[in-house]
Amino acid sequence: MSYDFDLFVIGAGSGGVRAARFAASFGARVAVAESRYLGGTCVNVGCVPKKLMVYAAHFQEDFQLSRSFGWEVEAKGFNWTTLIDNKNTEIARLNGIYEKLLINSGVQLLHGHARIVDAHTVEVNGQHYSAEHILVAVGGWPQVPDIPGREHVTDSNQVFFLKEQPKRVLVVGGGYIAVEFASVFHGLGSETQLAYRGDLFLRGFDHDVREHLQQELSKKNMTLRFNCDVQRIDKQADGSLRISFNNGESTDVDCIFYATGRRPMLDDLGLENVNVKLNEHGFIAVDELYQTTESSILAIGDVTGRVQLTPVALAEGMAVARRLFRKEEYKPVDYSLIPTAVFSLPNIATVGLSEEQARAEGFAVQIFKTSFRPMKLSLSEQQERIFMKLIVDQTSDRVLGCHMVGADAGELMQGIAVALKAGATKQVFDETIGIHPTAAEEFVTMRTPSA
Ligand code: FAD
Ligand code: NDP
Repeated sequence: MSYDFDLFVIGAGSGGVRAARFAASFGARVAVAESRYLGGTCVNVGCVPKKLMVYAAHFQEDFQLSRSFGWEVEAKGFNWTTLIDNKNTEIARLNGIYEKLLINSGVQLLHGHARIVDAHTVEVNGQHYSAEHILVAVGGWPQVPDIPGREHVTDSNQVFFLKEQPKRVLVVGGGYIAVEFASVFHGLGSETQLAYRGDLFLRGFDHDVREHLQQELSKKNMTLRFNCDVQRIDKQADGSLRISFNNGESTDVDCIFYATGRRPMLDDLGLENVNVKLNEHGFIAVDELYQTTESSILAIGDVTGRVQLTPVALAEGMAVARRLFRKEEYKPVDYSLIPTAVFSLPNIATVGLSEEQARAEGFAVQIFKTSFRPMKLSLSEQQERIFMKLIVDQTSDRVLGCHMVGADAGELMQGIAVALKAGATKQVFDETIGIHPTAAEEFVTMRTPSA
């Protein structure tokens, strides 16, 4: 049977674009359908605009710090509209680059919502296209619990387009997005509170790291409400929002920003027409080859609910393109030691096991940790401290995990991830000569275990 395409990709986000481009470059006939924006979540309402806002938010401290080095600067104020406009211009430029990349690699780009009609047919804008393989790369969508007043909530799709900077904001959630946006709002000068339903935010990260970030955010006078959840939201006559918490407390804000996780974007995708099963969390179930329970349909990225990070979606897209069209180059994605950063202020970055995970997995561990005020702050009154931690397997001396809270932690951790991937032992860290004076050199000079 002959099909219109060898591969039909639904969704031109991180994973879909990567799979489509490489499949086409391997000689496959490829189409990709995109309903909203080229580049997907990461480019439009995720990593990229978020990082630009994180940069913006750090200037307040930078201006203050520069005075201790003799600069006579005074920040006259911050203009939200300028930031959002400039960000939008940059994103439009990136959308154009993605379009060119796809078209130049020979992919047929279809602007419109794609719906699966049967195991080999997709409908876009009323037209049917047949394909030997269909790749679902539709990503995720913000999930907000059903509470009274939910209609007043701002989610992570909307936050990048707010017309005005809120003077007072409550961030709800304790994951990546909540912690990052609490830092953004606070840095930009909004009176910021964060409410998380558990004891301490960033569940799953190393406990010391979570505590260190809590201390740093508290030092900056951010209000942290733990063991606290929103019960209802009521709009007041003056337009403000009254938030009532489950502990009987309440607060008035101008914006309530929810970051309580993401669901798979399966709306009107037509999954009822095929035999694609979902896992127990509602994400598309796939095997280790990204194969769904319908043999012609594959799925990658956030819609599979595994590791919701752009570099992972990219790696999965690449793996699918190779497995289908360049078998001799196929290599499965290695999900071990995925480094990650939370772009809170200060940043968190981590690779490998937390102390809790290492102990739970039965390792006899040695812990090395340090906390210090970086040299850059030494002429100022700023009290932010860097935290670093190494988890070492006593038996093999292998470094199992590496964690940092501090400026540019993400930049630094990428290099350490290479070392851990190569199996570096603590002895290798000890024998590595530092770069002086840097904060990073502390990672190779920690000599005395704390536990
Ligand atoms: P997406 O990038 O979401 O792409 C899916 C695409 O499919 C979208 O463009 C969508 O419009 C389209 N689509 C959906 N349904 C259809 C349909 N039926 N027909 C046609 N098109 C459709 N990750 C990091 O690694 N670092 C970060 O700093 C980071 N920051 C983030 C910040 C935020 C606020 C958010 C929300 C996420 C962040 N992420 C970050 C996660 C990252 O954005 C995702 O892991 C990544 O985008 C997933 O890629 P994907 O290809 O699976 O899906
Ligand atoms: P996360 O899954 O990271 O965090 C969700 C948070 O919301 C958790 O603290 C969770 O609490 C809480 N929560 C969930 N449901 C409820 C509820 N009903 N009521 C109150 N609180 C609730 O999701 P995010 O939305 O922050 O981000 C989605 C994913 O996107 C991340 O997991 C990450 O993979 C990716 N991302 C990556 C970034 C990066 O690389 N820097 C930045 C932003 C996003 P609990 O812990 O108790 O379950």
